[in-house]
Amino acid sequence: MSRILHRSIGPVLPHAASAQGVYITDSNGKRYLDGSGGAAVTSVGHGHPEVLTAMREQMDTLCYAHTAFFTTDAAEALAERLVDLAPEGLDYVYLVSGGSEAVEAALKLARQYFCEAGEPQRRHIIARRQSYHGNTLGALATGGNAMRRAQFQPLLPETHHVSPCYAYREQAPTETSEAYAARLADELEAKILALGPENVMAFVAEPVVGATLGAVASVGDYFKRVRHICDRYGVLLILDEVMCGMGRTGSLFACTQDGVTPDILTIAKGLGGGYQPIGAVMLSEKIYTRFAEGSKLFQHGHTYLGHPLAAAAANKVVEIIARPETLANVNAMGERLQRGLEAALMDSPYVGDIRGRGLFRGIELVADKHTREPFDPARKLYARIKRQAMARGLISYPMGGTLDGTRGDHVLLAPPYIITADEIDVMVERIKAAI
Ligand code: PMP
Repeated sequence: MSRILHRSIGPVLPHAASAQGVYITDSNGKRYLDGSGGAAVTSVGHGHPEVLTAMREQMDTLCYAHTAFFTTDAAEALAERLVDLAPEGLDYVYLVSGGSEAVEAALKLARQYFCEAGEPQRRHIIARRQSYHGNTLGALATGGNAMRRAQFQPLLPETHHVSPCYAYREQAPTETSEAYAARLADELEAKILALGPENVMAFVAEPVVGATLGAVASVGDYFKRVRHICDRYGVLLILDEVMCGMGRTGSLFACTQDGVTPDILTIAKGLGGGYQPIGAVMLSEKIYTRFAEGSKLFQHGHTYLGHPLAAAAANKVVEIIARPETLANVNAMGERLQRGLEAALMDSPYVGDIRGRGLFRGIELVADKHTREPFDPARKLYARIKRQAMARGLISYPMGGTLDGTRGDHVLLAPPYIITADEIDVMVERIKAAI
């Protein structure tokens, strides 16, 4: 009997016993291809020898020193590397222990920034419907997933939601991508004006929406328009790359594909690659300077922030991801996965859309391909696909509630960046069989 409160009280889970490369083996010796990297976490693969060596060396030297008393070479080196590789303008790093913490810290940085700047009334956060930004209360309030929010209401009152950029569902058939992007930007601007620009703190969005929509990237110049509106009204742009960042989309930072740099950026999952819990917030000089010159320190902190072992692991993970051959493989295998899924599934009456960037791909399932009507949620299609895929030795990341938090199913695929062509083909075969 398990004494752990698992996240879902349901079927007994297999025990993961060991993992190597793109495979996890359970205690019965069954091998699973890690087709979703867990939840887009496993970036450089399991048991990567270079990461393990870096971690062992760090373990032999220093495992913990509280950041109130010390900085460490490990944390400094990671921050240095991230700033070197990041788009220009993201010059400082705040290390945390995961994605929700990163988003929480980003929100509090933004709020304190405006307090320091003499605009304490700028508290309102605008995010997008159907988004997910984490499970702590602030991050949950920011997220726009009705189903996840419902049982924890009332959440932060100053959170508001506009439409996501979700072309498959919301771009009109006669509308160009540019016109659709312009319509969404107008909606954001109208929301800022309705709240009063002087009251709006930040707009928060994922460049490519992962968990809630299934690898939905923006179209047209959506993010450039968003950046422009944020600048016009003095609103901070916070991009959440917890899931889509760190090479997942084929670029180290997903926002570079949209041609924008945020004021604050959050990363996690692929940063630690599954080796250690870690996340980071990257911020611009403009924000850093406020704190450096301001009256107070950043009033935020966790016991384990900047953990040396996590930083050492992440530093090696990022070094490996940033190698040209790693990102080249993400792009080549991502293309192969997209083409393979299209060839295998596009004829299915139940597959509406296959999309994504790099090794971040989503399949949207529909009961009727022409009307795009979703399946009856009572059928819990996503949960059945997850089980069917696991039975066939494939870890995938299916999710329900794509449309309004209750209806709509998608499957997210996000394998480690070291995956080979043969393994991509096996993934396609197994997910097809599962669907
Ligand atoms: N933001 C995004 C975009 C995410 O996908 C997630 C996790 N799915 C989070 C934040 C929260 O990260 P964590 O689970 O590490 O707290």
